Amino acid sequence: KNVVNRIAAGEIIIAPSNALKEIVENSIDAHSSAIEISVKDGGVKLLQITDDGGGINKEDLPLLCERFTTSKLRKFEDLETISTYGFRGEALASISHISHLSVVTKTAADQCAWKCYYLDGKLVPPPTGGSSEPRPIAGKCGTSIIVEDLFYNVPSRLRTLRSYGEEYAKIVEIVSRYAIHTENVGFSCKKQGSSSTDLVIRAGMSRKDRIRSIFGSSVANELIDVELEPNSDIGLVKCSAYVTNSNYSNRKSIKPIFFINNRLVVCEPLRRAMNQVYSTYLPKGHKPFIYLALEIVPGNVDVNVHPTKREVRFLNEEEIVQSIVDAVEGKLSSLDSS
Ligand code: ADP
Ligand code: MG
Repeated sequence: KNVVNRIAAGEIIIAPSNALKEIVENSIDAHSSAIEISVKDGGVKLLQITDDGGGINKEDLPLLCERFTTSKLRKFEDLETISTYGFRGEALASISHISHLSVVTKTAADQCAWKCYYLDGKLVPPPTGGSSEPRPIAGKCGTSIIVEDLFYNVPSRLRTLRSYGEEYAKIVEIVSRYAIHTENVGFSCKKQGSSSTDLVIRAGMSRKDRIRSIFGSSVANELIDVELEPNSDIGLVKCSAYVTNSNYSNRKSIKPIFFINNRLVVCEPLRRAMNQVYSTYLPKGHKPFIYLALEIVPGNVDVNVHPTKREVRFLNEEEIVQSIVDAVEGKLSSLDSS
């Protein structure tokens, strides 16, 4: 059974950055205002994510890494109205099958923090021996998730990984994108033991300042924002974007940043449409910065198309993409003629 679980886990988590994304989303769900990430060997040796969110109740710890254990889905109807990132309760379970996972957590009601260790979905004793029960330790409110030796039992996955440097770059990229999207939350990311931090976003920073800090002033100064009116006919709740001014001169090519209902996603139809718009208004070959956050009536979004939940489909896709295209073109063409 553990082999089956390990294979399933290996399909959801194919690189350290996948595990990191799930854990960061959990920290955001827990209403954290600061999320600190520390990484060793591209996340293979260590991924440590510390937040100051609500923490986990001690009595929930034994089942935390049990498959389909989630605090975010109480009844079936919730599927229709789900607003948090997770709801399948698979992430921590999967990670516990392919790494050495430990957790330190404290809620406001707790007198102290609790630390425990997991393997294959279950609490286990610490490496030094003793009981598998959570043990009290000193700690602040919030949660630390510590993932060590990722893929230690999945050699095929280890072989398909890129260099530590490249895996680390993917981690920083994901943290950067969540940092741009999730205003009011501070983020930091560094290599363990390094004195310098590779990403620091303070909680109070505006979205534009976050973009400036990550991509530089030349990108941030050229941004124009686009807002769409809600349209209940097509299930469009909200859409806000930062696109690049048509007088842009920077040739830097940057991967699009799309969030749908607060999830970092891949959305091919949207990507194609935006490329089309940029190719009309910008010099040939330019694929500069775009950040677009779309909110759709939750029942209209299908997040189950892929286990990694990245490629998302939604109802009225064509109409919604078209209305975004119209809004962005409207902005870019008005700037062009001025
Ligand atoms: P899901 O996010 O789909 O519910 P996960 O496996 O990602 O499933 O997490 C399982 C549960 O663990 C969550 O529902 C949540 O209750 C708890 N949890 C995980 N990480 C945190 C965290 N950083 N702070 C508070 N609770 C957490
Ligand atoms: Mg989750």
